[in-house]
Amino acid sequence: MVNASPHAPAPERAALEFGALRHRIGDRILFDGVDLRLNIGDSVAVMGPSGSGKSTLISCALGLVKPEGVVRVANSDLGRMSRRERTRHRSRHIGVVFQFGELLPELTPLENVALAGLLAGADRKKTYKTASELLGSLGVPRHNRATGTLSGGERQRTAVARALVNRPSLLLADEPTGALDDTNRAAVAELLFDVPRRWPCALLVVTHDAQVAALADDTVHLVDGRLIRQETR
Ligand code: ADP
Ligand code: MG
Repeated sequence: MVNASPHAPAPERAALEFGALRHRIGDRILFDGVDLRLNIGDSVAVMGPSGSGKSTLISCALGLVKPEGVVRVANSDLGRMSRRERTRHRSRHIGVVFQFGELLPELTPLENVALAGLLAGADRKKTYKTASELLGSLGVPRHNRATGTLSGGERQRTAVARALVNRPSLLLADEPTGALDDTNRAAVAELLFDVPRRWPCALLVVTHDAQVAALADDTVHLVDGRLIRQETR
């Protein structure tokens, strides 16, 4: 029977699905059956030591590395897209925060965030407005200083705003707190894991920092090419 109730829950929207990923680099098997699904609103931390394949997993979600198996972002299979379609899909649906260095140091935070929107083809006036609102919501002080002169914490808040400017359904973060001191590390981690509660997206963070991972809804460990779920709560 069809449930016609107007209060029926909306079907969960998958932001990212990895299905049976296998990938080798040289003679090393990096992924040996990786499965993961994140719906809008979810946050997952992937932990693993250096060299375990965390950044490569992010590259798979971005469609930059093509493993065996299925990678779906915002309900579309990246493996069925042309290179050009993948690039377009990436800029429409994915935002990324790296450890450091992806912001242009000479530009102001507003210019850095707006630039990401303009490069994706958004209207100039709307993009500046969105950028300004995002920076405000993420607690970046309004000033016209070059991004390079800001504190590490302010720069990472700017990087989060930049990743959100195109309203992605998937936010990826690769060691987002790796370059910060303890105080900024905690603040940026809290801000980041708050994102899927404030904006309609899913968050995948890869980190080797257990304190950062503890803030995620779920933590998985990349061990011998597979994701092992950590039983916590
Ligand atoms: P992590 O982010 O967990 O430190 P990476 O995903 O960066 O791990 O790398 C996993 C392994 O794959 C490492 O041993 C790394 O040296 C190797 N690797 C990653 N990318 C390449 C590449 N393009 N060519 C050769 N080896 C690579
Ligand atoms: Mg890495």
